[in-house]
Formats: sequence, C-alpha cells, structure tokens
Amino acid sequence: MTDDPRAALLALVADPARRPVLLALDFDGTLAPLQDDPEASRVLPAAADALRALAAHPDRVRLALVSGRALADLHRLAEVPPGTVLIGSHGAERARVGEHGLDRDVVALDDDQAGRLARLGEEMQAVARGRDGVWVETKPAAVVVHTRLADPEVGDAAEQEALAVGARLGSVTLHGKKVVEVSVLTADKGAALVDLRDELGAGAVVCAGDDVTDEDAFRALGPDDLTLKVGEGRTVARYRTPDPQALALLLTDLAAALGDAESTRQPAAQGGPGA
Ligand SMILES: [Mg+2]
Repeated sequence: MTDDPRAALLALVADPARRPVLLALDFDGTLAPLQDDPEASRVLPAAADALRALAAHPDRVRLALVSGRALADLHRLAEVPPGTVLIGSHGAERARVGEHGLDRDVVALDDDQAGRLARLGEEMQAVARGRDGVWVETKPAAVVVHTRLADPEVGDAAEQEALAVGARLGSVTLHGKKVVEVSVLTADKGAALVDLRDELGAGAVVCAGDDVTDEDAFRALGPDDLTLKVGEGRTVARYRTPDPQALALLLTDLAAALGDAESTRQPAAQGGPGA
C-alpha cells in the first residue's frame, strides 16, 4: 500500500465496485483553517469549489460534513452544496442540505437528559464565571466550555473543572483542543458515520479530520475505508495530510478526476459552430 493519500483516494473513487463513496469531512481544522473566533471559520475557497464540483456526481460520491458544532451553526458557516448530509454535535444531530434550507432530524431528549442538560448549563456557567476568555456554548444535547481565548493557566483550570462536572452529569465528555464538551447523549462521530454509510449503501468511506473526536470515526471504519488525519498529532488514521490547504488540493484533484471521467464518458459533441 502507498502512503500517498492522493493516489489512494483516486484509486478508491475510480473503483466501480465501491460506488458511491461517502466522503465524510470534518469542518473546523479540516475544511476550514482553525480560527480563534469560531464564528470566523469558513471552508477554504478551493475546497468549497471542489465540493460543489463533487456534488455534481452523486452516483460516484456522497458528501457529508461531520462536526462537533451544533447543526444550525454548521449549516450557517459551512455553506456546502445541496445534497450534503450534515452531522452535528458529534453525531447527535443530523440533516440534509436542501435547495431551500435544511431537512433536519430533531434531537429528542428524555426527561433525565433534559434535566442533566439544564444542570450542566448552570454548572458550566459557574466554571466560566470570573475567568477571562472562558465561555460556555449550549447545544441541543450538550454544553461546551471554550478556553481558546483564555491565558493557558486559566484555561487549564477551567478545563479540569469542566471535566469533573462532565464526569458527574454527562453521558460523554470530550476533551478537545481548548474545549471541553459534555453531552447528555451517547452519540459519537463513528457511530453516526457507520449509520449513514449503511443508509446510503456506500461502498466505502473516506473520512478526514484533525481533532481527537475524529479518532472515533477513524476507529469505527474498516481497512477498506480511507482515513485521513489533517495535521500533527497521534492518530489511528491510515493517511496524513499537513493542513486544510493540502486537503483542499486533494479534493480539487478528486473533483478533476471525476470531471475527466464524466467528459470521457459523455463527449460534448452536440454543439454547432461557436457553441
Ligand atoms: Mg476539527
């Protein structure tokens, strides 16, 4: 096997037996360079162009964004083409991007989960209180403490307290880069991805991500799938690419390969002079 993700990706998508390939991509740090202000995150223009081109080949490739962000947030920032499936909140929320908005599955919490979510919100606000640069985000099934903008000692202390709160009240606690997320559901990216693969009847999954939560997805996939770690750090992924810019190039090459295959199969011979 090669260590070149480009060759592996092109070979996988060229194999008729694997169609459609589910292309499941993380957003922050993968399609969009990491930002101090999470509201400033955007898909790199080259990646956005490639995703639009790939969306024109649903028989070959299906697109999914798999993110820790709340679904509404992901939809607003990512601006992905219609037909893309969005998996938000680490698998707890899912929807499909339509021509005129989002067809979403609603997150249903039982009484116990709703009660724990409310207490989590209160206790995490207490963790953030008096600590500059620490803030709390509430999602439909989780509470998140962000420490990116805090001094390191302040952020570390807040993260440790948030982890302790999570151990008491949460179902799943995720400790990512400058972020502690406590969910009252047991969803993870891996389970969500396997469900989607089965529903679509995908012949293979290509999964790319940069953070520890993406490792759940990498672990859930099989040896015939293609896992791609973006950036540094320990990973179980088979391949690695240095940064979102390099991933955008890979996606551009993939879109070009599908476009070429299409034009070979259907030569544009209809036009008269000047057409
Ligand atoms: Mg990420």
